[in-house]
Amino acid sequence: AVSFDHVSKRFGGRTVVDSVSFTVEQGSTAVIIGPSGSGKSTVLRMINQLETPTSGTVRVLGKDLADPATDIRALRSSIGMVFQHYSLFPQLNVVDNVAFPLRHAQGLDKAAARKAALEALEQVGIAKLANHYPDQISGGERQRAAIARALTTKPKIMLFDEVTSALDPEHVKSVLELIAGLKDQGITLVVVTHEMRFARQAADTVLYMDGGHLLETGSSDEIFNHPRSERLQAFLSAVE
Ligand code: ATP
Ligand code: MG
Repeated sequence: AVSFDHVSKRFGGRTVVDSVSFTVEQGSTAVIIGPSGSGKSTVLRMINQLETPTSGTVRVLGKDLADPATDIRALRSSIGMVFQHYSLFPQLNVVDNVAFPLRHAQGLDKAAARKAALEALEQVGIAKLANHYPDQISGGERQRAAIARALTTKPKIMLFDEVTSALDPEHVKSVLELIAGLKDQGITLVVVTHEMRFARQAADTVLYMDGGHLLETGSSDEIFNHPRSERLQAFLSAVE
């Protein structure tokens, strides 16, 4: 699981994440919503150590990330992350893109990495595109490839930061269904999204960030049907 205990992050003099505490149980899905600049991506980035908290404790799979005894490399390899803008290498075909972390971070030989990559592509439904290059496939297919690449290392936790924001509407639904399906494999999902329908349907826990604060947290029913704060009510009526 993932837990934050009074975690803050300051950039220069500005506090962009302010004493945030929450727990995401292993195998459950947490969806982070909130206005632009509220600190959602920063929270996500602290989970896989792309950012270090200024204060407070982040625990991943029971390990305190700030504890020198924690094997950060091992922990990182159990976390997959997919961003809004697909970070596929344009000069590599799809299967080589997906095989990349297996080849270069985990040191598998070419044949073994290719086999695992093809399995991951099968899992996300684009095995037939293995030999295409990123500019020959759609945005939705590129995101599937990025998800396949994150899956090759068999992560226990997957982080998604607005992965459908740059997609055409017709691709959004299938990518979100793919993400929701990962839950059945016992993977813990932490998803930042503007897709409120997805948050309603897929979230076990919804975290509402506002101005660096975790203003409300609750079940999908609590957050969407019974929002307590005026800020959340206003946010929901603006986005839904
Ligand atoms: P959006 O919905 O627009 O993606 P967000 O909720 O993900 O917004 P963050 O990206 O977490 O917001 O940023 C929170 C605040 O922290 C913003 O005001 C941003 O400008 C600031 N910030 C983020 N990263 C840095 C950085 N490396 N240096 C300075 N300020 C930063
Ligand atoms: Mg963001």
